[in-house]
Amino acid sequence: MPERGQRPRLSFEFFPPRSEQGAASLARVTQKLDELQPDFYSCTYGAGGSTRDGTKETVAQLRAGGHVTAPHLSIGADSEETTFAMLEDYRSMGVDRIVALRGDVPSGIGRARFRANAEALVGRIRKHSGDHFHIEVAAYPEVHPDGKSPASDLEFFQRKVDAGANSAITQYFYNPHAYYDFVDRCEAAGVDIPVYPGIMPITSYEGLIRFSDNCGADVPRWLRKHLEAFADDDDGLRRFGIETVSRLCDDLLSAGAPGLHFYTLNRWGASRTICQNLGLANRGE
Ligand code: FAD
Repeated sequence: MPERGQRPRLSFEFFPPRSEQGAASLARVTQKLDELQPDFYSCTYGAGGSTRDGTKETVAQLRAGGHVTAPHLSIGADSEETTFAMLEDYRSMGVDRIVALRGDVPSGIGRARFRANAEALVGRIRKHSGDHFHIEVAAYPEVHPDGKSPASDLEFFQRKVDAGANSAITQYFYNPHAYYDFVDRCEAAGVDIPVYPGIMPITSYEGLIRFSDNCGADVPRWLRKHLEAFADDDDGLRRFGIETVSRLCDDLLSAGAPGLHFYTLNRWGASRTICQNLGLANRGE
């Protein structure tokens, strides 16, 4: 892994806005984050196609603003033809980077319709477009909820890499040792793509707990206890969250993490302050 001091990669994730007001707000968010000279923005995709148009429109909006943009693409229950059509669209828009996922099963749709995994999607992208796209995949330092063990989870991760993934972004975590352990195990297994830590800024207690329970991210007891203590103090929680996540990011970069990927939830404040705390503003100079 590169030493701290080299220019770490920086990326920020958005979801497709659901209204004109949301789209206008996202334009302001990118203006604020542009000051950090991000390497790219990414935009999520609802598995099952629920945001197919929304993702494409958001990618078009970001591209029109001159931003390097990576659409997420979830295989869900999509046919090969549907995936190929999306890849054609993205290629014609000038997109050359994709985050390839299995996708979360939307409520009301049985797992039976979601048999394909991200490995199959990576294979489809390579089959259709050769090396045109840089492919990012997801990684789970704390083990995916479907993972039977750390070893089997790593094996499925390795299969995505063998299918053609170039780099990975992790699920968020608050224990950096989970990340160090994962990277060490990748190295021992000969999996040598860069693994970028996914960072979730902390701005609300209930939201974080609900989100984390759903996606299998661990909020350690010490952190829960601190956050609970800010029940009536939103500003205090925000300040504590920024300080805690800044320290986490500093640890990760100091230990050689190649960059950071922020789950912004379409907001700029906490992500930008954390990057400023890390000295990542004006990092291109
Ligand atoms: P996979 O890598 O296919 O599999 C996940 C886990 O399932 C593996 O770790 C392994 O434990 C197990 N597994 C895989 N293959 C097999 C197999 N053949 N047999 C048995 N077990 C297997 N979701 C969305 O819907 N839209 C998004 O835009 C989105 N963006 C994301 C971005 C990032 C950076 C991350 C980390 C997650 C994102 N997700 C998104 C969530 C993701 O789709 C879910 O975590 C989903 O449950 C798994 O997706 P995956 O691509 O990791 O799947």
